[in-house]
Amino acid sequence: MSISSSFIERLLASVNIVDVIGGRVTLERKGGGYWAKCPFHGSGEERTASFKVYEETGTYHCFGCKESGNAIHFLRKYDGLDFIEAVEMLASQVGMEVPKQEAPIDTSNATKINNRAAEIFYEQLKSKDGINTVAYLKDRGISGETAKFFQLGYSTNKKPTLHQRLIKEFEETDIKESGLFGNNDDGEFYDRFRDRLMFPIRNIKGECIAFGGRLIEDKNNQAKYLNSPETKTYKKKYELYGLFEIREINKRPDSIFLVEGYMDVIGLFQHDVKNAVASSGTAFTQEQLRKILSYTNTIHIVFDGDEAGH
Ligand SMILES: [Zn+2]
Repeated sequence: MSISSSFIERLLASVNIVDVIGGRVTLERKGGGYWAKCPFHGSGEERTASFKVYEETGTYHCFGCKESGNAIHFLRKYDGLDFIEAVEMLASQVGMEVPKQEAPIDTSNATKINNRAAEIFYEQLKSKDGINTVAYLKDRGISGETAKFFQLGYSTNKKPTLHQRLIKEFEETDIKESGLFGNNDDGEFYDRFRDRLMFPIRNIKGECIAFGGRLIEDKNNQAKYLNSPETKTYKKKYELYGLFEIREINKRPDSIFLVEGYMDVIGLFQHDVKNAVASSGTAFTQEQLRKILSYTNTIHIVFDGDEAGH
C-alpha cells in the first residue's frame, strides 16, 4: 500500500503534535513552547527537560540526543509502529480515512494559485470596482483592519478576468485543478466567482485552499453563497473557516465557538470574540468536531436554526 505525500501533508496539518506527544509524555509549557524530559535519551531519565515540541511546525527536537521529527516519526519511535500504522493511528485521531493507493499529487500549485487569487481579490476590493463590497462591509461594522486580517476580497466581473490574469503566471493544467474556474460546453474556462465578496478559506498552515463567495446584491437565479468545489487540496469535511486566523491570535484558546457562516466568524471577531470558526461549505461534520477538539477543550455551538446552510 502506498500513501500519497499530499495525504501525509494534509494529515500532519490536521494533527496537533502537542496532543499526540502530550498524550504520552508529560509536557510543560514554558516560554511559548512545550518541553519534556526526553523519552529517547539512552541513559535513563533526564533531570532537566531538553526535549522541545514545536506546535507551529508540528515537530519535536531533543537538544540532548538530537532526536527529532514530526508526529509520524514520534509514533514510530515511541509506540514502535511502522510507517503505515503510525499514519493510520494519527488519521483515526483526527477522523481522516487513509486513502489506499491514492495517486501521488503535487498539491503545491493549486495552493499557489489560490493564494495568488486571494491577493488579486484583495487588490480588487481596494480598487474602485470594490466600492459596493466595501460599503457592505462598513454597513456590517467590519473595519478595514478586520477585512485585511481575513484577507477578504472582491471578485470582479470585468476584464481582465481572473483566468486571464492567472494564465500569465501558471500552467493551464494546474489552473484547472484550482477549483476557481468552471468550464463551459466549448471547454472554455470561466471565473467561478464573479461580483462577489470573497472569503479565502485557509488550511491550518495559512495557505489558501478554497474560497467562499457572497453576493452583495440579490441577483435572480444566483445562489447567495458559492463555495469552491472539492479539489485535491480542499476536502470540505475537514476544513474550518477561521481556524488558522484565530490561532494567529491564540494558539490554544480555552474555548472555540462554532458558528454557521463566514460573516458570523468575522462579525464576532470584530466584536472582540476572536475564537469563532465556521464549517466551510458543508454541514458540520464529525471530522471538524475532532479537529476543533485538538486545538481546544471546550466548544460552544452557536447555530441560529433558521436558513440552513447560511
Ligand atoms: Zn534526547
